[in-house]
Amino acid sequence: MKQFNSLHDAAEYATSLSGQWSFINSDTAYASEGLLVLAQTSDAEDPIDEDSFYVVSDGGSIGLCEDEEDIDWLFIADQDKDLALPDTFTTGGTPRFCSQCGQEIVPGANFCDQCGASLN
Ligand SMILES: [Zn+2]
Repeated sequence: MKQFNSLHDAAEYATSLSGQWSFINSDTAYASEGLLVLAQTSDAEDPIDEDSFYVVSDGGSIGLCEDEEDIDWLFIADQDKDLALPDTFTTGGTPRFCSQCGQEIVPGANFCDQCGASLN
């Protein structure tokens, strides 16, 4: 799973993985061109905030992660239709721990949420 800061970047990557998507909870289907146009419009009119990012599954499905954890899948790639997509975001790496207090660090966090130490 990869993460992106704009829907257009996510869509561009997704088009290298799949050729057809359906919008979640509807029968609307998108091909590559339609997806990219829609993504550009969405980025321009409704940009996501700093804490949010888009994720693209290995099969090319696109989701929105608003709290660095839960994923709302938006566009399901045809080849992912019968798969259970993960509903939480994970970088797949081993967990990191705060060097000040030992608290496990939320992936992508800049500060420890236990003691507030800067993690960079
Ligand atoms: Zn800490």
